[in-house]
Order: sequence, then structure tokens, then C-alpha cells
Amino acid sequence: MRKFKDDLHVSLLMIEHLNNKIFHLISDIADENKKACYVIGGYVRDIFLKRASKDIDIVVVGSGIELAEKVTAKLGKKANLTVFKNFGTAQIKYKDIEIEFVGARKESYRSESRKPIVEDGTLEDDQNRRDFTINALALSLNKATYGELVDPFNGLEDLKNFVIRTPLNPDITFSDDPLRMMRGIRFSAQLGFFLETNTFDAILRNKERIAIISKERIADELNKIMLSRKPSVGFILLEKTGLLELIFPELLALKGAETKEGIGHKDNFYHTLAVLDGLCEKTDNLWLRWSALLHDIGKPRTKRFDNRLGWTFHNHNYVGEKMIPGIFRKMKLPQNEKMKYVQKMVSLHMRPIVLSEDEVTDSAVRRLLFDAGDDIDDLMMLCEADITSKNPEKVKRFRANFQLVRQKLKEIEEKDRVRNFQPPIDGKEIMETFNLPACAIVGEIKTKIKDAILDGIIPNEYEAAKKYMFEIARELIKTEQENNQA
Ligand code: ATP
Repeated sequence: MRKFKDDLHVSLLMIEHLNNKIFHLISDIADENKKACYVIGGYVRDIFLKRASKDIDIVVVGSGIELAEKVTAKLGKKANLTVFKNFGTAQIKYKDIEIEFVGARKESYRSESRKPIVEDGTLEDDQNRRDFTINALALSLNKATYGELVDPFNGLEDLKNFVIRTPLNPDITFSDDPLRMMRGIRFSAQLGFFLETNTFDAILRNKERIAIISKERIADELNKIMLSRKPSVGFILLEKTGLLELIFPELLALKGAETKEGIGHKDNFYHTLAVLDGLCEKTDNLWLRWSALLHDIGKPRTKRFDNRLGWTFHNHNYVGEKMIPGIFRKMKLPQNEKMKYVQKMVSLHMRPIVLSEDEVTDSAVRRLLFDAGDDIDDLMMLCEADITSKNPEKVKRFRANFQLVRQKLKEIEEKDRVRNFQPPIDGKEIMETFNLPACAIVGEIKTKIKDAILDGIIPNEYEAAKKYMFEIARELIKTEQENNQA
């Protein structure tokens, strides 16, 4: 059990937080207007979890908008008020904090939408509509009860025990708004909490309801899981509750370890999650994390059993690279340079490993530097995380070889500067020199110059490239002319 020590400690924590000038100001105005007013939800939860939060939710028994207007007037020019009349909410931005005001409300739902019918309600009604007991905690702001905790569902106890539980019947809570199933799993991953058994079972029963949730909202929750300290917690829960099959079948397809003729292969779902968790210890880069999640996504489609070689996944990196635009489109993830970065990482993720298994030649290192460009360090990080073998000898050998690859990468980059290199002679110069129109032969000459530099045949310098251009071009143009005449 988590130790908040005792109630005194709890009160001290709260007083410390509520001493903030802004809470006293809201308190004064609420009392002047005879309105019951509370801080509620995530902000209160995070006080106990000692997580810094700049988003404050205030619930007012009455009009949230009116109170927000009065608070803004008192705060002066530095406060910025936005009113959302249709939602009955108002938001104040003041310095680096955001305060959301809402009137206490009662909600009822229809089956086809997660948008509720809303009526004015009491604090109790408002707490009933919250998703989890730990998110339903309220702290009074009125003078007579300042700092008192209103906790009708024992949320504090659940916080102490690391438990995620719905305040009311979980089947109703999840069926009303199925996004809450994703939120519950996301909180488990973010906070390291457990889904209480009834809550977990209700997700199993209501999983199909996820169909009414927009892809954008699901992606939002997935990204929050991806940014948590140990995303595998979230993905394992998604798999166990059956949600993964509905929202991300390509990832679920990695699950399972088949055996044929006594030869098995590793379970690529758990391997992927181990790679992802390992990488997360090293970086917060969301798109590198997505690259780890997707690095083997092409394996189910390329899996073959060969009598001689056993299980193979030939070209799974290229197949994976090709699958990514479809996955990103379907899941409403960005279709821009972030997606291209993930594609690049997935397509290249085998290269440093293969390189470290062979003799590390300068030419192979140059090509890797050229293909990865500025993303080479990210790629190396991904590849190192990809070593999840349980055989310590193997891991040791891989790590040592990786050191060698890193060292070579450094040496070659210092010497040849091939990262982000542009061949010193461009197509325009080739066309002008040989009086050629834009045609395939120009591209061919350009590629040959680039390859010669990457293979170390010539240095990465203009004069050497020009000389080489004349050497190869004559032959190529002559062959082309002969072909045209034939
Ligand atoms: P985070 O900021 O990490 O998302 P949070 O709990 O502050 O966590 P918000 O989305 O800001 O999440 O929501 C604030 C509060 O509103 C929650 O703590 C919860 O009480 C309530 N809430 C938010 N979304 C829902 C929902 N779908 N169903 C019920 N209550 C919700």
C-alpha cells in the first residue's frame, strides 16, 4: 500500500497547494456570490501523486461561466478568458496555467453517441459522471470548508493502492462513453496502476463500443501510452481486454510463437514491446518510439518456414515500411515528415545489425551514413534496443560489435562527411557539360558518381568527381547512341 502516512499529511499536502494566490481569489469570489465551488479531477489526483500540473478544473454549483468572468475581471490584463457557451464552460489562461470552469452537471447518454444530454446538477451528480474514482476527488474552495476533500467513492484509498476503478457500475460508465476504456488503460500505463477486476471485466464486455469513438481520440490516447515510462503496460492491457484487435490488428498479428519440425520463433509481439520499453529508457522522442513499435510490423506478412533455414522473415523491413502509410492513415496519425521518419527507421532497422555481424567495411558504413543522414543516432539507438536476446554471450558480442560500428561511423563521418552529403556534381552540370537534355542517362551518371564516393573509389571532392564524370560519361553516352541507332 502506498503511504500517504496519515490524514494530517494529506491535509498538509492540500494546504500547500491551495495556498496558491489564485485559489484564494476564486474562494473569495465564490463566497461573495454564494456559490459552492471545488477544485476537481486530475489536478487533485496529481497533488497526491506529486505530479506537477498546470491544468486546473473548477466545478461550481451554478454557472461556471459567470464565476470565470468575475475571476478574470479580478485577475486583470494578464488573464485571458475564452467562453464556450455551447458547453457551458469557460477557460482562463493566466501566466502558464489554464483554469477550466464548469457548472456542476448531470449527464445521461444515448447508445449511438458519447455526447451526453446535460442538465444542471449537484456536486454529487458531477462526481458520478467522472470516469474513475481517482479522478472524482474534489477539494472545497469555500472559506468555511477550505481544503476539505469530498471523496464519495474512496478514490484516496484507490490512489494509495494503485487502483483504477469506475465510480459507478463499470458497464454503464464504459458503455456511456467508451473512450473511458482507453483512458483507464492509459492511466494504468502512465501512473503504473492496476485495473480493478470488475473494471477490467467490463472493458472485455464493452470493447465493441469503441466503434463509436473517433480515430483521432483513440490516437490521442495511444500517443499518451507511447509517451509513458513503460508503454508495454498499456499495450498488454489493450491486448488482454480485446481492444487491440479492434483498434490495431496489425500489432496483434505479431502475437504468437509457432513451432514446426521442432523449430520455433520468438513471439514478435512481446519482443516488440521489450524493444519499445528498452528504447523508452533512452528517449522521449515519440516518433522514434513509434518506430520501435512498428519495426517488425512486416513480419507476419513475410513469415515463411524453410526446411533448411527454419523460420525466415525476408524483407520484413521493406514490407513494414510499405505498411506504415496505410496504418497511419487508418489511425489518423500524421501523414507528413513524421510518418516518413518512421518509415525510414523501419526500413533501415536491420542495417547496423547486419553491419555489425559482418566485417565493418568503410564502404558499408558510408552507405549507412548516407541513407540515415541526420537520423543515424536515432537509428543506432533503435537497433541497440532491438537486441533482446536472453543469451548474455550473444548480447555481449552484439554490443561490442555495435561499439565498433559507432566508432567507425564517427571516424568516417569526420573523414568523409557523408552524412547529408549531396554529390558535388548535380544533374544541371552534367546536362550542360555533355549538352544533354533531361534524360535517364543524366541520372545514371549522377548515381555512378555518388556510388564511387560512397564506395571510396574517389574522394568526396569536386575536382575528383569531375574527372570521374568524364571517365564514365563517354562510355555511357557512346553505348546510349549505339542503342538508339540500332
Ligand atoms: P490528463 O491531463 O493526463 O489527460 P486528466 O485526468 O486531467 O489527465 P482530462 O482529460 O484533463 O484528464 O480531464 C479532467 C477530468 O475530467 C478528469 O480527471 C475526469 O475527472 C474528467 N474526465 C475527463 N474525461 C472524461 C471522460 N471521458 N469521462 C468521464 N470523466 C472524464
